[in-house]
Amino acid sequence: MEAARPRSLESLPTGAPALDPQSLAAFAASLTGSVVVDGDAGYDAAREVHNSRFDRSPSVIVRAADAADVARTVTLAAANGLELAVRSGGHSLAGHGVSEGGIVLDLSPMKGLLIDPDRRLAWAQPGLTAGEVTAAAAEHGLAVPFGDTASVGIGGLTTGGGIGFLTRKHGLTIDNLVAAELVTADGRIRTVDEEHDPELFWAVRGGGGNVGVVTRFVYRLVEAGLVVGGGLALPARPDVIVGLVKAAAAAPDELTLISFVMQAPPAPFIPPDRVGELVVFVLGVYAGDLEAGQAAWAPIRALAEPVADLVGPMPYATIYQFTSEGEKRGGGSIRSWFADDLDRSDAEAILEFMRRAPGPAMTQIRVLGGAMARVDADATAFSQRDARIMVAAMAMFEDGADPTPVDAWTAAFFTAFLNRVTGAYANFLGAEGEERVRSAYPHGAYESLAAIKRRYDPRNVFRLNQNIRPA
Ligand SMILES: Cc1cc2nc3c(=O)[nH]c(=O)nc-3n(C[C@H](O)[C@H](O)[C@H](O)COP(=O)(O)OP(=O)(O)OC[C@H]3O[C@@H](n4cnc5c(N)ncnc54)[C@H](O)[C@@H]3O)c2cc1C
Repeated sequence: MEAARPRSLESLPTGAPALDPQSLAAFAASLTGSVVVDGDAGYDAAREVHNSRFDRSPSVIVRAADAADVARTVTLAAANGLELAVRSGGHSLAGHGVSEGGIVLDLSPMKGLLIDPDRRLAWAQPGLTAGEVTAAAAEHGLAVPFGDTASVGIGGLTTGGGIGFLTRKHGLTIDNLVAAELVTADGRIRTVDEEHDPELFWAVRGGGGNVGVVTRFVYRLVEAGLVVGGGLALPARPDVIVGLVKAAAAAPDELTLISFVMQAPPAPFIPPDRVGELVVFVLGVYAGDLEAGQAAWAPIRALAEPVADLVGPMPYATIYQFTSEGEKRGGGSIRSWFADDLDRSDAEAILEFMRRAPGPAMTQIRVLGGAMARVDADATAFSQRDARIMVAAMAMFEDGADPTPVDAWTAAFFTAFLNRVTGAYANFLGAEGEERVRSAYPHGAYESLAAIKRRYDPRNVFRLNQNIRPA
């Protein structure tokens, strides 16, 4: 513990539940890890999250060292009615990684990782990032299917589902999860899998932190040595966008593409006279035979004369170099949705919104399907197995700038596409209210999660998330 008296407690709003200094000191002494409070060196850095618009001051930040620390923290929050922010990599788009006045349970010190290449299993603690696990698994030519950016924490990514460059070939991250160690609201540490507490294991896979804190993930590793991948910048035209969506859906499952309509960056691979022009930056991975991979990319390359072509054989983990800009902390606004189709008028609307963007912005388009869609809708809490396309409108702004213009832009974008919306991905939601959370859990998943919540977290200790209210 770095200070005995949490100064921030004195400034809590009247009526907010608080910890007395003695209880806090006793709690801190019981931990293997440490606590950070307002006034400690490092408090400001410790309360920062990836999206800088969430500038909040928690009473206590617990830097957990192990599952026992997590259990103690959950018990403390429950006993005192304090808001609990569970933070792994801090990339929550809704700001759920930091609380105003409550407790932050910072799991980032928990970085234990064991890889068994013979059994193709990885045991990973939740303080690890997708990039860290990917780099370690790559030494064996293996991977866990994570998302598109290295800095994202495996805690939030996995519990929400996990959509990335291997989704069509190997499914979501949760489709490769074989067990988890979970601390539930009663402070118990459990191991959950298909045989032990299967209901909880179901809920962990997509339920987004609603039923407990995962302190260890056990993943099945997939083969991912050399792939045919990289980035292809195409001119941003309606026919290119529509053709891309069609070609991505028709491609073999080995090929998963994540595309960004954006301004061409001032990068060495962009001809200087095309910098700033709207392009469709297609990132992707073909995980399989290299020759077949080149053939699978051919219809994408044929859509238009590329502005830049950086696709070729490469180690799987190299794909994260293409999204390293996204690791930077800054202000952001996002609205996203699942859709069944993307036609020419949709493509024209996307381009029009991009032309009117108030600053740096992008529209992300992911064509799903493949292995992700072959899992039964009721097999995991992520139930939208039939989601075909995910679209996300994102706008960025400088630290401290007024977010109103970018929020207005993403909101108008979403409204324009309302008649296309077939659902939502919990991990891509901002703080958008209960209706949107419900739309992330169709086919009875919301009701099942609510029933499990009632059993394991009736007082909604885990509520700072895309929250499922206990039934
Ligand atoms: C730049 C960027 C790129 C992204 N790319 C992708 C992508 O390609 N694919 C994709 O699927 N998503 C992607 N996301 C979304 C991302 O999956 C979610 O924001 C996710 O919640 C972040 O996880 P985190 O651990 O970093 O965040 P945190 O803010 O630490 O956690 C977010 C929430 O997850 C829950 N949580 C975190 N750790 C645990 C745990 N150990 N046990 C239980 N619950 C926990 C909590 O409810 C917490 O509030 C991206 C986000 C960003 C900002």
